Amino acid sequence: MLGKGAQHRLTVVSGPSGVGKSSVVGELRRLNPDIYFSVSVTTRAPRPGEIEGAHYHFIDRSAFDKMVENGELLEWAEFAGNCYGTPRAPVERALAEGRPAVLEIELQGARQVRKAMPEARLVMLMPPSWEELVGRLTGRGTEEEAAVKARLAEAERELAASGEFDARVVNADVRAAAEQLLNLMIGD
Ligand code: 5GP
Repeated sequence: MLGKGAQHRLTVVSGPSGVGKSSVVGELRRLNPDIYFSVSVTTRAPRPGEIEGAHYHFIDRSAFDKMVENGELLEWAEFAGNCYGTPRAPVERALAEGRPAVLEIELQGARQVRKAMPEARLVMLMPPSWEELVGRLTGRGTEEEAAVKARLAEAERELAASGEFDARVVNADVRAAAEQLLNLMIGD
């Protein structure tokens, strides 16, 4: 069970592409199934193995624009040529039910959440080193070279903003990083 301090808490997990956000958040999910994990909408094409409604809701640009227009997104951003956003209603529902919620989003989105919900806790997941991050991103093999370059440029910008976050967690070990994240969520 989560402690009292966790109630109504929104936690944002950011960090450069390739740092292992999905693995750490997946481990967090296993550690505590009570937590609500937001499923974003994106205009990016699904990667092999990605499932509609589980990893993302894959939508086209006009549907995305409509959601923005209608105020249905809590935050949204363009990242490496694609649009990503957090549907507002399910997050608000979870928080209203007293379930802590986690958003796994990039820097511009994290900044929007900070403005809209100052009580949210912002955590940046950090790589053990820059070299390690480059190795993970190039070794993933899911992106074209140009896309990898764009993601590395974004990664540099994201890491430079780590001081804006309430906490930084180094992902040297997925389980340990997930436990640290959980402690941040259930602590005060
Ligand atoms: P990917 O294409 O690798 O799945 O995601 C690219 C980046 O977009 C990652 O940093 C990921 O955390 C971020 N992202 C995923 N969903 C959202 C969202 O709803 N809003 C924002 N601002 N970023 C997102």
